[in-house]
Amino acid sequence: MSKTVFSEQFDAGEVIFRAGDLARNAYIIERGTVEVSTESGGKKIVIAELGKGELFGEMSMIDDAPRSASVTAIEHTEVVVMQRSRFQKPIMAADPLMNMLMRVMVNRFRDAQRKMSGTRDGPSEFDPALEEARQLALRRIEDEKDMRHGLDVDQFKLNYQPIISLETGHIAGFEALMRWVKQDGQFIPPVEFIPLAEETGLIVELGRWSLEMAIKDHMNFSNQFRQFFPDQTPLFMSINVSGLQLSEMTEIDQLAKIIKNGSLDPSALKLEMTETLLVEDPVHAAQALKKIKELGVSLAIDDFGTGYSSLSYLHQFPLDTLKIDREFVINMDKTENSHRIVSSIAQLALSLDMNIVAEGIEKKHQMDALRDLGCQYGQGYYMAKPMSAEKIIELIASQPVW
Ligand code: C2E
Ligand code: CA
Ligand code: CA
Repeated sequence: MSKTVFSEQFDAGEVIFRAGDLARNAYIIERGTVEVSTESGGKKIVIAELGKGELFGEMSMIDDAPRSASVTAIEHTEVVVMQRSRFQKPIMAADPLMNMLMRVMVNRFRDAQRKMSGTRDGPSEFDPALEEARQLALRRIEDEKDMRHGLDVDQFKLNYQPIISLETGHIAGFEALMRWVKQDGQFIPPVEFIPLAEETGLIVELGRWSLEMAIKDHMNFSNQFRQFFPDQTPLFMSINVSGLQLSEMTEIDQLAKIIKNGSLDPSALKLEMTETLLVEDPVHAAQALKKIKELGVSLAIDDFGTGYSSLSYLHQFPLDTLKIDREFVINMDKTENSHRIVSSIAQLALSLDMNIVAEGIEKKHQMDALRDLGCQYGQGYYMAKPMSAEKIIELIASQPVW
């Protein structure tokens, strides 16, 4: 593979690139000085003189138009060369609005430069990449407006999936799962709208709403449950929280307020989060989780085994529950390895005093195997699919045991 970042040296007077050249690299000056210039009517116009730490040739990282200016070393100069491919992934991954913003800025700058050098003074050329970025950005704005509207007119709902105690076979609690059904009946799956809500920041508001809603529904479920199962342990309620909701301490205060004003005993509330939050900023995560734990709620690590799966963080954070991802459960009876992994995860959790919820149980034999491995709880289509709050009330009344 060719190197995407390397050093290069230029002598005084040496041209690094010329206007009109194909543009493939951007440069950061490590030592020396360069001059950026264009030509107008055969006369050289110096646009800038750049020194150590400064960047040039950067526009080529955003589009592939030819160089609009020339750069010459004024003295002996050493630069770090960054190839286009180094920037492709982050640019592709950037928010569509950001992408449009970058492309518009580059085009405006090029136009201004052309006017200055007198090469052209007219409307901008059609730029298909900018057009594509514009379309994506417009679609994103529409989606965002749709979602905002959906929130305002109550298109978001919570469904609940029972979590079963594998020891007793009874319902032990629920996981709240968000649903978005648009006015025309179109169902948008959470794997689509949650990332959008995270990108647009709407997840913060959605998250507060779902916490409030789930706490209310929990009270109804609990009343019903007590009536039909007076001897069983009280039900817990598990809610997914996005890392973004916990990135500001002030937002944790907002969530704390909702919990304090709610009807449930905080120990019945469980917040599910993924590893990403813990791995990306462990120092902040430690503070945030400490604050949440002080409220008396418990914490679960979701989708365990799919991400970084670094075992070292498990004991660094005050986690109560480990949710084993569906992937392992599906493959448990297919590959000896998956079975061994689940078995080791179960032992690890037990030794760290954490309890385990196995996700995605679709067959009875999976449930039995997981129970044998020491998993206390299970969740999956075999027992029950996520359903509306009304259906949960009916389900409890049917007194199911698995
Ligand atoms: P998750 O937290 O891992 O939730 C479990 C997902 O697995 C749910 O998908 C559930 O319907 C599905 N599932 C449960 N049992 C089975 C099974 O036996 N087989 C199969 N194939 N699937 C099963 P869902 O509801 O589509 O949610 C997808 C993801 O969206 C969730 O994954 C979670 O990451 C996210 N999500 C859902 N609701 C919320 C929310 O309120 N807040 C946040 N931040 N994320 C949410
Ligand atoms: Ca979850
Ligand atoms: Ca999960």
